[in-house]
Amino acid sequence: MEIKSVMVIGAGQMGSGIAQVCAMSGYKVYLNDLKQEFIDKGLSRIGSNLSKQVKKERISQQDLVAAMDLLQGTTDLNDAKEVDIVIEAAVENMEVKCNLFSRLDEIAKDHTILATNTSSLPITEIAAATKRPGKVIGMHFMNPVPVMKLVEIIKGLATTDETFAAVENLAHDLKKSPVEVNDFPGFVSNRILMPMINEAIYTVYEGVSSPEDIDQVMKLGMNHPMGPLTLADFIGLDTCLYIMETLHEGFGDDKYRPCPLLRKYVKAGWLGRKTGRGFYQYQD
Ligand code: NAD
Repeated sequence: MEIKSVMVIGAGQMGSGIAQVCAMSGYKVYLNDLKQEFIDKGLSRIGSNLSKQVKKERISQQDLVAAMDLLQGTTDLNDAKEVDIVIEAAVENMEVKCNLFSRLDEIAKDHTILATNTSSLPITEIAAATKRPGKVIGMHFMNPVPVMKLVEIIKGLATTDETFAAVENLAHDLKKSPVEVNDFPGFVSNRILMPMINEAIYTVYEGVSSPEDIDQVMKLGMNHPMGPLTLADFIGLDTCLYIMETLHEGFGDDKYRPCPLLRKYVKAGWLGRKTGRGFYQYQD
């Protein structure tokens, strides 16, 4: 199946990045959000990202104009009937996603693939909200989308090989490197990354070392580009806690129990960069 047009749902951090890479690869993109102001913010983020690329001479002004022309903001979910694939990047909430997928199932044409960028929710459960589970799939981009090469493509229990092949082709076309993953909690990326971050937080909690020194060990000793606590602040500590809870509940194994210090920080509103304080403090 050939994909020519895309609807991205959610014009936030991830959705605007996904819309940007799709438009830069020549796809017609409908960018959907609940309010026009959210769409405007997403489009202006894309415009400013692309302008930086023009300044660095990585793309031409014509590339920028062509990509922006392919982007159409919409608050009307009914525009999903115009596209070959919907990529949902709304909030990480099962009820919101199931509700969206059930409505999209009614609106979209029969051939349309319904993909979700969820970081942790079960694809099989989201697919069960539709009458086309064979055409529902996970397409997990990394943040920031225009920079990061990886896309995890997650097959739900009923996802067909045809759906997988179409989404794999799309990922290649977006100049990404897709990896095939089956539907288990945390997929591959967060199943490995989050327990490491959680363990780094336990290492602070138990007074083994300071956040600075723990990050230094992982940077200089393991060649990680960023220490786990700096990374946790970047991702958001609420998101880290949410994913650990998903792993804990999904596997029923105490090795995934979230560190009490992580819970405490989240309760305090110390969520990392976005609130100015997490394991580190941020000025702006
Ligand atoms: P965000 O808060 O920046 O953006 C979410 C957007 O979705 C908001 O603009 C919101 O108004 C919109 N939205 C909410 N409900 C909607 C609805 N019913 N219809 C249309 N729009 C709706 O969040 P984000 O960081 O971009 O994350 C989006 C998704 O991507 C989540 O599922 C998240 O788990 C996943 N994800 C996030 C990251 C990350 O690092 N932030 C990485 C990979 C995957």
